[in-house]
Amino acid sequence: MTEGLTIGRWAPSPTGDLHLGNLRTALLAWLFARSAGGRLLWRFEDLDSAVRPQFYESQLRDVAAVGLDWDGEPIRQSNRIDVYLDAIANLRQRGLTYECFCTRREIAEAVVAPHGPSPEGAYPGTCRRLTRSQLSQRRGEGRPPAIRLRVDAPDTQHLELTVADRQLGSYTGIVDDFVIQRGDGTSAYNLAVVVDDAAQGVNQVVRGDDLLPSTPRQVHLARLLGLDPPECVHVPLVLGPQGRRLAKRDGAVTLADRLALGEAPLYVLNLLLTSLGLEPVTTVDDLPALAERFDPTALPTQPWVWTPVAPAM
Ligand code: GLU
Repeated sequence: MTEGLTIGRWAPSPTGDLHLGNLRTALLAWLFARSAGGRLLWRFEDLDSAVRPQFYESQLRDVAAVGLDWDGEPIRQSNRIDVYLDAIANLRQRGLTYECFCTRREIAEAVVAPHGPSPEGAYPGTCRRLTRSQLSQRRGEGRPPAIRLRVDAPDTQHLELTVADRQLGSYTGIVDDFVIQRGDGTSAYNLAVVVDDAAQGVNQVVRGDDLLPSTPRQVHLARLLGLDPPECVHVPLVLGPQGRRLAKRDGAVTLADRLALGEAPLYVLNLLLTSLGLEPVTTVDDLPALAERFDPTALPTQPWVWTPVAPAM
């Protein structure tokens, strides 16, 4: 539980139209924040090369269409590059980083090597052990390095950290030497999220449970930067009929697709509410009253499996 005003956030990447899974997580972020009388901020996580400009507007429109609101102007990570570079420089000056020249393939090969099995895709520490001459040789090859955090775990190459999740209880995961700046100079997701949550005063993070393994890394990084990690609330995903994370391949799954099929936004909202075991509303104006009655302990703990045949309208 957080003390004082709850400040939640919703942080989509503008890489496509929002689908039912995205909207359901947005609804949950809204319910957790509003039921606590808190604020909900919007942050576009747009450092990815897959970002397309049209999706900033369409995502705002879709979330508003299903009756959710947010506070203040959405921020964009792409406007905050200097803030991330400052945090990276801070860690670098303290000797907490190193350059990594590994390709994905080299990492994949190293983690299956007999001497270095690493859990959950942990980085095996290859570039941490480069000698001075190996380092200058790798630099000379011209491939720009990624920057990794140097986690203080010299023998095992990773730490284990237990974090508290409001829905899932305690979770123990690894903190390896994860990337904080990619080879192309872009700040990595974990770094940007930690810096932004703190800068925005966020103290409640509601997001899909596929991101749970990132949480120990983010908590560790926040502590290194002298920041307070937010309360975390991981919620079950929506899965497609094949049991994989809902995606375009699953058919008419975006709000735009559903509206094109003749469903009203209110119908889609009610579909999401009922999938969460919550009662449908007659109008979006009923949402605040629903938030007042919101009981997180009654939420489903399993993913919602979307089947293309929707209930009758
Ligand atoms: N940007 C992520 C997404 O679109 C969410 C990241 C987070 O909530 O930490 O799923």
